[in-house]
Amino acid sequence: MIKKYQHLIAGHWQGDGEIPNINPSDTNDIVGLTTSASSTEVREAISAAHAARNVWAYSNPQQRFDVLDRAGSEILNRAGELGELMAREEGKPIKEATGEATRSGLLFKFFAGEALRLTGDIVPSVRPGVTVEITREPIGVVGIITPWNFPLAIPAWKIAPALAWGNTVIFKPASNVPGCAWELADILVRAGLPDGVLNLIYGSGSAVGSALTESGLVDAISFTGSVVVGNQLAVAATKKGIRVQTEMGGKNPMVVLDDADLDLAVEICINGAFFSTGQRCTASSRLIVTKGIHDRFVASLEKRMRELKVGNALDPATEIGPVVDQSQLEQDCRYIEIAKSEGGEVVGGEILQRSTPGFYLAPALIKGTNNDMTINREEVFGPVASIIRADDYDEALSIANDTWFGLSSGICSTSLSHVSHFKRNSRSGMVMVNVPTAGVDYHVPFGGTKASSYGAREQGAYAKEFYSVVKTAYVSP
Ligand code: NAP
Repeated sequence: MIKKYQHLIAGHWQGDGEIPNINPSDTNDIVGLTTSASSTEVREAISAAHAARNVWAYSNPQQRFDVLDRAGSEILNRAGELGELMAREEGKPIKEATGEATRSGLLFKFFAGEALRLTGDIVPSVRPGVTVEITREPIGVVGIITPWNFPLAIPAWKIAPALAWGNTVIFKPASNVPGCAWELADILVRAGLPDGVLNLIYGSGSAVGSALTESGLVDAISFTGSVVVGNQLAVAATKKGIRVQTEMGGKNPMVVLDDADLDLAVEICINGAFFSTGQRCTASSRLIVTKGIHDRFVASLEKRMRELKVGNALDPATEIGPVVDQSQLEQDCRYIEIAKSEGGEVVGGEILQRSTPGFYLAPALIKGTNNDMTINREEVFGPVASIIRADDYDEALSIANDTWFGLSSGICSTSLSHVSHFKRNSRSGMVMVNVPTAGVDYHVPFGGTKASSYGAREQGAYAKEFYSVVKTAYVSP
C-alpha cells in the first residue's frame, strides 16, 4: 500500500495525496503520494500558526524541552528507517542518509537544551534608580522553506530552533521529498506539540512563498535553496517588513598546496566533491592545485574517482547515489558539455545504466580549466568538480576568492603560516583546514558570505539572532 502524505493544518491531517513521489534509484518505485495545497489551505495553515502563537510563546521552557527532546529521541531510535526513506526518496546512499537522520535527532536534542538556556541581561541605567532589562522573545509566526538535498537535517535545523524559542511554524518542504517532511511533522505532533504550532504544507514553492509574504500574519521566513528563488523571496519579504534569512548556493574552493599530504588531500576532495552525489551547497566544486603537486594529485584523484561505486542508494555498497531527478541530470550534463566546449578535458561524467532504471551519472572531473570558465562561475549541484592549476599559494587564494559565492572554502596543507593566512583571508562563512568543505557540526553556526547567504546565521546558539527578538525594558520601582 502506497503511503499518502497529507498537509498538517491546526493539528489535522488533510488533503488527498495523488502526486507520485518517484525513487530516483528506481523510477518504477513510487515512494508515496503527495498533495498540493490550495490557496485556502495555505491561508488556513498561516491562520493556525498565528492563532497558536501565544500558547507556544508563553509555554514553559520545560514543555518545549520535553517536546523537542522526545522528538530527538524518536528520530535517533528510528535513524535506520528514516535513512531508508531518505535513500528511496532523494537517492542519498543509505549510510549517508542514516547519518543525516542521526544528525537531525541530535539537532533536536541540542535545541531542546537551548530552550532552557535562554538568558537575558540586567544592567544599571545611566539614569539614577532605573534598571534596564534586556530579554529575548519569540519573533512569532515563522515560514520555513527547505530544499530537497538534506530532507531531514535542514528542516530540523530550522524547525527545532524556531520551536525552542517559542515560535510557531508553517513548514513548506521541497516538493520531491514529502515523505521525510511528513515523518518529521508526525514525530513532533506525537511528541506533544499543541495544535497549530507546526503546520505542514505541500505545494508549489511560488504559491506558498507568495502567500507567506502577502498574508500579513507571518513575522519571519527562513529559506534554503537556490540563489534566484532566495533573492526573490528576500525582496518580497523585506518589502513587507518580514525578517528573512536565506541560505543559498556555493562554488566552494578547495586549495591543495604542494606541501599537502597527497593521500589525505585526495580523500578530502573525493568526499567534498562527490559524496551526496555532489548535491551539497558546500560541495568542493573548484579544486585549486599548486603546480608542484598538481600532476600527482590529479592522477591519484582520477584513479580514486574511477573506483567510486555508483548505484542504487539502498545498496549498502553504493558510494554515489543517483542524481535527484531528470531535470537535475540534464542540468549536470549541460554543464559538462559547456565545460568541454570551453576547453575543459572531461574525465567521467557518463550516464550509467544499472539494474533498476534511475538517474545515474558517473562523477566527472574537468581538467585544465581556468577560473573564468562557466564551470567555475556557476553552481552545477551535481557530481562534477573542476581542476584549476595555480602557480603558488598567493595565486590559489586569489582564485579561491574570485567568486560571487562565499559559503565554504578549504585548504589542504601542512604549512601553519599558509593555513593561518587562509583562515583569515578566505572570503567565506566557513573555512575547512585538512577536512572537506562539506560536512558540518550540528551545534555551531552555519552560513556564508556574499551571494551565498543573507541574514542571520543558522544553527548553534547563534540561531537565536533570527528566531528571537530583543526587548529592552526600563524599570523604575
Ligand atoms: P529551489 O528550487 O530554490 O527550492 C528550494 C525551496 O524553495 C523548495 O521548497 C521550493 O519548492 C521552494 N520554492 C521554489 N520557488 C519558490 C518561490 N518562488 N517562492 C518560495 N519558495 C519557492 O532549490 P532546490 O533545487 O530545492 O535546492 C538546491 C539549491 O539549494 C542549490 O542552489 C543549493 O546550493 C541550495 N542549498 C543551499 C544550502 C545552504 O545552506 N546554503 C543548503 C542546501 C541547499 P518546490 O520544491 O515546490 O519547487
